[in-house]
Amino acid sequence: MKIEVKVSEFKKKVARSLGVIQAKAIIPAFSKVKLEVIAGQPAKMSASDLTASVIQTADVTVKANGEGIILLPAKVVDNMMGNLEGDVLTIETDGDSILLKSKGFKAKLAGMPASQFPAIEQKPATKFSVNNGALRNVISKVEAAAPTKAGRHSVTSIQIESTAAGLRAVASDGFRIAIADVLGAGAGEFVIQLPKSVLGLIKAIPGDVVELSESETNFFFSSGAEQVLVRKPMTKFPPYQKALNLAKFNTDFKLDAEILRRAISGVSATIDGKAPAITISVDGMGLTLSSSNEEGSSEQELTVPVNGVPNTARINQTFINDFLGQAEGEISVQLVDAKNLVKFSNGGLVSSLAPTVESTLELNSGKFNSSVPLRGQRGRFLPLHGDSAHYSLLCRYRGGAKQRKHGWHLSDEQFFRLIEQSCHYCGVCPNLKFIYHSGGQRTRQAFFYNGIDRQNNALGYTAENCVPCCSICNRAKHGLSLFEFQVWMKRVAKCN
Ligand SMILES: [Zn+2]
Repeated sequence: MKIEVKVSEFKKKVARSLGVIQAKAIIPAFSKVKLEVIAGQPAKMSASDLTASVIQTADVTVKANGEGIILLPAKVVDNMMGNLEGDVLTIETDGDSILLKSKGFKAKLAGMPASQFPAIEQKPATKFSVNNGALRNVISKVEAAAPTKAGRHSVTSIQIESTAAGLRAVASDGFRIAIADVLGAGAGEFVIQLPKSVLGLIKAIPGDVVELSESETNFFFSSGAEQVLVRKPMTKFPPYQKALNLAKFNTDFKLDAEILRRAISGVSATIDGKAPAITISVDGMGLTLSSSNEEGSSEQELTVPVNGVPNTARINQTFINDFLGQAEGEISVQLVDAKNLVKFSNGGLVSSLAPTVESTLELNSGKFNSSVPLRGQRGRFLPLHGDSAHYSLLCRYRGGAKQRKHGWHLSDEQFFRLIEQSCHYCGVCPNLKFIYHSGGQRTRQAFFYNGIDRQNNALGYTAENCVPCCSICNRAKHGLSLFEFQVWMKRVAKCN
């Protein structure tokens, strides 16, 4: 088979294919583009790897002699095409090898049987038609907040939500939640997750409308001559709304994004490289931004009208800059207090940032936990209803219940409520210390709790049968019934 293609067009298609071909292909066929020539039809170019595929119907053919499939090494061809002098490239294959020719240039590449190219699933019928501009917009605005490595409370994907109200993208690295909305751009009701690694590929889909469909394993985006397949992530996106609902703001102010940008760069000369935090303080006089490191400190005052109480928060500079990079015109800033979410809004973009507090202990389950010192660039954003230390204790209790063959019927919330209460029998406040380590000795969390007594020893852990109980009362009651224990307590009280 022999095919002549237009160099400029062909080059673009190969470059686009490289968007799915990774630096080190896991199997050799993943480093190839598949060029399919069928008489009377535009040629088709496909590239595929484990997470995504792109199929381009490429009107690049000048002349074709025969039909068939050629697997071309994408990177090699891309490199060669950079400096071609001719406008036309001839690609010829006899199966074993591939000859490339263009004005004075000649190359011979090893062939590979077409059967080795991964099968690409057929696109099912279109389910939704999405406004491509809105899709690109929401993806661009949040993608910086999606982590490249999964954390305990974050996944390496962004979530796209379409409702009657509009189109939304959400990303969270466990330290901040970025949400971008385009009202009115909804395309029916759907929620999908897209891996961070394919966002560039998706944003480059041409056209005004993207048709979306799905199979069991893939999402399909198609527009005009292009089709992108994305393997569905297996991860569960964190329930971000819960964290946002917890915030009740006490202070807010508005200012121009450009002014804030300049003020931040003004004080960044004395920022701590290891913990690059900017302190925002607001009072009746306005806003003060400050930073400090071993070399010194600096601050910038800005006169802005402030609503609410005087307030302060330390914020990760990278997070603010990511937000400001997408913001234009007036932005709004809302604060709860030094230990809670700081919310930045601009148009359809909202970025809720975790505080970077260095204090040692925070007893609340849920919300933010400040027990982890500020490290690197990160403030810490905690799981949504109980931090890992609390969950660790919960697991220990549940495991113990199972081992002793007691039924466990407490919800996580009920358990956390019980252990933070004073002893039901003697009234002592939680005084058992639970210390939790993760990541070696670097991360240490500790909190005080009370144990749980099953009032009726014959029954398991139900909400009705459980009361908070300190260790002393627990040991004293041991195998006694509630009645026997009460009799004993009265005797003790009388004799003392
Ligand atoms: Zn007690």
